[in-house]
Order: sequence, then structure tokens, then C-alpha cells
Amino acid sequence: MASPPNDTNDRRYRRHRDQLVDTLRSRGIRDERVLTAVRRVPRHLFVDPALRDRAYEDEALPIGLNQTISQPFTVAYQTSLLEVEPDDRILEVGTGSGYQAAVLCELGARVFSIERHEDLLGRSRSLLDELGYDVRTRHGDGSKGWPAFAPYDGIVVTAGAPEIPGPLLRQLREPPRAKASGGRLVIPIGGSGGQTMTRITRTGTGPHDYAREEFHSFRFVPLVSEEDDAD
Ligand code: SAM
Repeated sequence: MASPPNDTNDRRYRRHRDQLVDTLRSRGIRDERVLTAVRRVPRHLFVDPALRDRAYEDEALPIGLNQTISQPFTVAYQTSLLEVEPDDRILEVGTGSGYQAAVLCELGARVFSIERHEDLLGRSRSLLDELGYDVRTRHGDGSKGWPAFAPYDGIVVTAGAPEIPGPLLRQLREPPRAKASGGRLVIPIGGSGGQTMTRITRTGTGPHDYAREEFHSFRFVPLVSEEDDAD
């Protein structure tokens, strides 16, 4: 990994990260590998310098263009549901600040990430490079997935979707053998009033071979597809 910027390992921020991990644990995050990843990623570098002192509060923060860096609890929650193993191929829809992508890298995943706002992607791309996180990124509509690198062991959508985009289901890895499970899609489903965190697991090779589980409610910025943009 490349040398981090000077204040990455600032003792004060490390202490704040430890406190954040304690908060996440008290809120029910149990996956120690996820908590370790959160402890390692310098979230203060993923937010506007004016907001750095708030970077380790368990809050979503603005990143410009009416978008947000997700609340750490939400990042940890979605990442736990993905059940990432080292070397898994993970597609993220909604790069935003790049923070979630960095957490996935810390888990040893091969990370692919798509963002519809070119300016945001430019910024997160530079930061991820500077910090030595190896993330392949693309500017575009992530609801279409990224077929060139499919299939994925996991897909995480970090914006609220009114319904499940079909291409993402098709790009999940098929189960390697009978009774094993395949790729997992973690996606908040619902409208602007709130979404239900939903996990879809591929269970076979057929078009209906998917299992659906629903979890807690969240409130995300909307997933905006190219068709919405054209309106
Ligand atoms: N994962 C991000 C992070 O760690 O900072 C949080 C992202 S923010 C909650 C959601 C992001 O999804 C925004 O940056 C938004 O521009 C992006 N987005 C919304 N619709 C999209 C789409 N169809 N394709 C790609 N990105 C999209």
C-alpha cells in the first residue's frame, strides 16, 4: 500500500476511530472483520476538510452535489450483510466519497465501483489512489451493473432503489454446486420516504432462483438511473 497522507495515522483520529467502533458494536454490529476494517479506514480524509472533526460521529455527512457519505453504521451494516471473503469480487453501485469501497478493500475484496456523478468519482478516485486502495471505477449508471467483470460474489447498492434492477440480479455469481449459495445483492428497496435493507442471494441457475431477506429500515439518497436522468 502507498504511503498514506500525513494525518492518516494522527493519534487523535485513531482514538476517534476506536470510539466509533465501540459505538458500532453497541449498536449491534458483530462482525469483527468489518469492525477492524472500519478501524483502519481514515474516514476524515473522505469528508470535506471543514467537516473533519465530525468524521467519526455516526452520521451521514454531505459530500457535495446533494449526495452523502453514508453513516458508518449503515456502511458496517451493509458490509456485514455482504459476508465478504478475501478475493471476492464485489461491485459497489454509488462510489460517492469512496469510503465504502475502501472498507471493502480492507476486507481483501477485489472492488469495482460505479458512480453517476463524474466530479464525485474524480475526487474519490484520486483519494483511493493516494491511499493505495486498488479499486476499479467507472462513471455511469450502476443500475445496469458492470457486465465486463461479472459475475460478482457480492453487489452493494448504496442508494435507495424503488425496485431491484434486473441486470444486478443477473450479474450475481451462480452457486458453485448444489445446496451452496451464490452471489449476494445488498440493496435498500423503497421510495423517498425510506427503504428496507434487502438481501437477495442467488440459489441456482434459473431465472427465479433467488432468495430474499428483509432487514431494518434506512433512508438513502435515491438511485437515479439513466432513464430518470432523461425525464
Ligand atoms: N458509498 C458511498 C460512500 O461511501 O461515500 C455513499 C454514496 S451516496 C449515499 C450514494 C451515491 O450513489 C451518490 O454518490 C450518488 O451519486 C450515487 N448514485 C445514485 N444513483 C446512481 C446510479 N444509478 N449509478 C451510480 N451511482 C449512483
